[in-house]
Amino acid sequence: MAIRVADLHCDTPLEIRGGADLAAGHAEGHVDAGRLERGGVGLAVFACYVAPSLPAGRAFAEAMDLLDRIDEACAASGGRLAKAETTADIDRVLEGGATTAVVAAVENGHAIEEDLGRLERLRLRGVRYMTLTHSRNLSWAASSGEASCSFEGLTAFGEKVVHAMNEMGIVVDVSHAHATTVRDVARITRRPFLASHSDAAALCPIPRNLADDGIRAVAASGGLVGINFFPGFLDPAYAEAQESRIGDLFEALEAVEREHGDDPARRLAAGRQLAASMRERMAPVRPGIGRIADHVLHVVGLVGDDHAGFGSDFDGVPDLPEGVPDCSAFPRILRELRERGLSEPSVAKIAWGNFRRVLDANP
Ligand SMILES: [Zn+2]
Repeated sequence: MAIRVADLHCDTPLEIRGGADLAAGHAEGHVDAGRLERGGVGLAVFACYVAPSLPAGRAFAEAMDLLDRIDEACAASGGRLAKAETTADIDRVLEGGATTAVVAAVENGHAIEEDLGRLERLRLRGVRYMTLTHSRNLSWAASSGEASCSFEGLTAFGEKVVHAMNEMGIVVDVSHAHATTVRDVARITRRPFLASHSDAAALCPIPRNLADDGIRAVAASGGLVGINFFPGFLDPAYAEAQESRIGDLFEALEAVEREHGDDPARRLAAGRQLAASMRERMAPVRPGIGRIADHVLHVVGLVGDDHAGFGSDFDGVPDLPEGVPDCSAFPRILRELRERGLSEPSVAKIAWGNFRRVLDANP
């Protein structure tokens, strides 16, 4: 049987809220049921993105609303997409005929509005990981997206959040977090943690990526780095050209959110417009599929094949490498890894097994 793929990070709930019909097909986005099946994606994590700009009082409600959208999309899929929380669930729904098990996550600890009770309510809704920060510092965790923070890493409350996540079975995700936050998570976590959608700073030195120290810390916990497919995180030439031609991506996204935050359809349309102009202007420097393999191989070379995976960021990024139009491209990515010398058991761990191990280790 062909190797199945687990994709650790798709921003698809926003597309669902904007009207995407994943069962019928959704060509405007990167993900739908048919292309997940063609891509061999047996497990997709749908991340509920909570914008840093949302005021307290709306952040938790936003996460809950997006969790509802995941349930709606699964219910409307004719059994092709099925929600799962544990590896036993994943096996059960796949054996039962679903083509993709969908695991829910929350992107941005802003969602809990500084309240562990809300964290618990997210867990009760099936959330299996939470990305601690997005592009802005929280009151309790420093982000890689800001040049400075009034404290380092995690505050005392931030440590409480990590411990509570360890207890509840919500995997700690350090993508977007500041290096000092990664360091603090590594020091206090009692369970393996994730960088669900991050690349290696050694190959593309931007703050959003993980330095080798950070990758070693994730691996030492028994965790996993999901390689992000955004060219601006994969490739320094692209990142530099993007900075000079388009400016800061997160600032551009924030401008879209400020202008259209209350209108999901217009927000998506504005995001697509930004993406289209970016794709056009960045075409000359867009890297190929091999750049994804470079980052996978860097992690494997540094810490071994138990600690690499995929966190595409489909439906969340404005551009993708040449040859990777959407989630149907995974078989080509796996082929690239084989051609670059990875054995079949290694490819199977990276594509599928490693994330299952981390879920099992965070019961
Ligand atoms: Zn993200």
